[in-house]
Amino acid sequence: MFCPKCKSEYREGLYQCSDCGVDLVASLPPEPETGVGYVDFVEVFSTYQQSDIAFIKSVLDGEDITYYFEGENSNLMVGGGAYARLLVKAEEAQRTIEILQDMGFLEKN
Ligand SMILES: [Zn+2]
Repeated sequence: MFCPKCKSEYREGLYQCSDCGVDLVASLPPEPETGVGYVDFVEVFSTYQQSDIAFIKSVLDGEDITYYFEGENSNLMVGGGAYARLLVKAEEAQRTIEILQDMGFLEKN
């Protein structure tokens, strides 16, 4: 049994939270989603080449990988191109790295 207010767990046979005075429930409702799909993103690649970014985007879109380029739209111009870091979800990082290796953007180990 659980208190829906303080989330304390009580043994069977009790029906009210001694702290809150509310009726216990058999199970707590699922935790509400925190934030809008918070996930860990990791950097797998970085480039100064705008053409690389466009190409990688088209490939990752086709692979249904969630990604974003950090710094892509910054005004920091280095060597004629913006420095951008490719970030993907941690669980898709390995797959993305393999794709980038196949395309020649990353060295194979
Ligand atoms: Zn309680």
